[in-house]
Amino acid sequence: MLDEYLKILHNEFSELETDKSFRELTTVEIGGPAKAFLEVKSSEELVKALIVVKTHSIPYFVIGGGSNLLVSDQGVDKLVIKVATRSIVVEEGLVRAQAGTSLQELVDFSIKNSLTGIQKMTGIPGTIGGAIYGNAGAYGQMIGDHLEFVSAYDLEKQEVVILTREECGFEYRSSAFKTNGCVILDATFKFSPGDKESLSRESSEVLAMRLKKYKPGLKCPGSFFRNLFTSEVPKSALEKLPPREDTYGKTPAYVFIEALGLKGRRVGDVEITDFHGNLFVNLGNGTAQDFWDLAHLCYQQVKDRFGVELHPEVQLVGLPSISSEFTVHSSPRLYRGSR
Ligand SMILES: Cc1cc2nc3c(=O)[nH]c(=O)nc-3n(C[C@H](O)[C@H](O)[C@H](O)COP(=O)(O)OP(=O)(O)OC[C@H]3O[C@@H](n4cnc5c(N)ncnc54)[C@H](O)[C@@H]3O)c2cc1C
Repeated sequence: MLDEYLKILHNEFSELETDKSFRELTTVEIGGPAKAFLEVKSSEELVKALIVVKTHSIPYFVIGGGSNLLVSDQGVDKLVIKVATRSIVVEEGLVRAQAGTSLQELVDFSIKNSLTGIQKMTGIPGTIGGAIYGNAGAYGQMIGDHLEFVSAYDLEKQEVVILTREECGFEYRSSAFKTNGCVILDATFKFSPGDKESLSRESSEVLAMRLKKYKPGLKCPGSFFRNLFTSEVPKSALEKLPPREDTYGKTPAYVFIEALGLKGRRVGDVEITDFHGNLFVNLGNGTAQDFWDLAHLCYQQVKDRFGVELHPEVQLVGLPSISSEFTVHSSPRLYRGSR
């Protein structure tokens, strides 16, 4: 599909790479090649790339840190644009970060400057752009909470637009950017003053807890499935689960998976860790198909036993969705390689 556009892309971008493996671009270290790959280091370069793809109707896909992606073994037959723009500036009490800035950099910056609001999001990998796209969060804090506005390139209008927090449409692990065709350029936040020592302590406590789950060196895309709002889980399902304390009004996906004894289950070289039921890891030579099969197995067993549908938090790229529409087919492997 992309072959016909490669000449245009090479002419426009001298630094264009071809067949760049998604193993190098994702934390799970899985995925086939990006047919064409471009890393942009300024918002101007990013906008230029978006104008080129729009002008020539070139298929494209934007990534940040690749920490929430599972890409098919066949790769992506598109121009993959990695947003690597990095800066944090303060203007009139507002903090603006470019989309490619790592979330950790912003967390560290906020603590250093005694600003409260995202200190518990320490340890979440990835960029500001990716965090806003999926409304990343942890321990009761979410990236959207203190956001004032986002500047983005709107490919439909072909102009830079400003979206207020309301217009960003934040929901649990979701935002308007999943559907609005805008690419995030930068984000502006308004944090309240806080006490540096307390912020630092809170952040360290969270990091210590996180390190128990996300041991250094794990090849994973974060939690695989989204947690569920307890109010939306049928009572009959809750009754089948071991008693537990409510976590921010949610029932974690892992409790269903663990109740089924699936911790430690392995498909190919992908395994559910033996210490957390919603943590699927690449043991080294795992494939996207292994991942998908293991996730689908969990999805199906949870559905059969509890009547509850789990939905991936991870963005599946070039892979079929894991949802009820696929359970009617006898073999999900029929979808190998489909986009
Ligand atoms: C060890 C580990 C722990 C994690 N813990 C958490 C956690 O506690 N809480 C949590 O919420 N998540 C967590 N995650 C998941 C992940 O880190 C977050 O979702 C993160 O915000 C993704 O950012 P990214 O830059 O890596 O996005 P990517 O994975 O590169 O992309 C994710 C999506 O964002 C889109 N996107 C990226 N940049 C832009 C942009 N500039 N404009 C428009 N769209 C864009 C992409 O197209 C893609 O659809 C964890 C992941 C790992 C590996």
